[in-house]
Amino acid sequence: MQLINKVFEDLHGSGKEALQRSVLDMMEKYGFLAKFHHHHSNSTEIKYFFPAQLRVSHPELWKLTPQESDPCSLIFNFCNGFVPHGLFPQLVSHLITLFPKLECTKHPKLYCNGAHFLLGKKSQFDLVLLCSKHCIKLVFKGYDTDSEQVAGNSLAVQVRTLIEQELERLCKQWHWLGNVHYDVCISCSACESSSATQCKRHKSASCLDQDCMHLLPISSVVNEPVTLFTCPEQVGEHSRFTLTNLHKWYSSSTSEVTVLE
Ligand SMILES: [Zn+2]
Ligand SMILES: [Zn+2]
Repeated sequence: MQLINKVFEDLHGSGKEALQRSVLDMMEKYGFLAKFHHHHSNSTEIKYFFPAQLRVSHPELWKLTPQESDPCSLIFNFCNGFVPHGLFPQLVSHLITLFPKLECTKHPKLYCNGAHFLLGKKSQFDLVLLCSKHCIKLVFKGYDTDSEQVAGNSLAVQVRTLIEQELERLCKQWHWLGNVHYDVCISCSACESSSATQCKRHKSASCLDQDCMHLLPISSVVNEPVTLFTCPEQVGEHSRFTLTNLHKWYSSSTSEVTVLE
């Protein structure tokens, strides 16, 4: 991770301070930089992040899978074939600024095409965003007991709502590329478990590349704990499968979900 704090350390004087502030504000406005307000017992420290400059990856991040009680992984698949260049770092920048509203008190860990946020009062939830050529994947994983379940459900809904709002906004910004939009998908378990399905790019039946997975779009907001999917690529018994906890991204067991502006 590359964390740059006090970028203009060697600049002094009020004129330079004003210049520094306006340059940073402009970079923040255009999503090249994100400020994270880190609250200590009696002071607030500001850390600066430059998501677009990150080159180091973290292989463990790509292996993270939600456990049974967590919402299943959610995938934003970009319909015209690729995630527009620069969209992911801008999304991450905005989330760094917005997530402190969601009890995110620790600064995030950023990698090349990956971001790891710790959410919840006790940092008991991991939120990982992974960007590949065609899609952005969300993994939400809890590490606490059942007492935290309700908080986690409500948090997952808020996280998804916030990310979708930001993605919508960014897609509009990229309108000059024409028709930038995405489908919300899940990865197809029928194809994943079928030994007959081979990834065409890598010629492997067990390819785990995010861009090779067969994705199935979610038709509407999901409220049921168990959702039935049909894979048109498969034939017979295993072409139907059910997925649990997709609804945890959409409905909360608490009566009210606060949608952030
Ligand atoms: Zn499939
Ligand atoms: Zn592959």
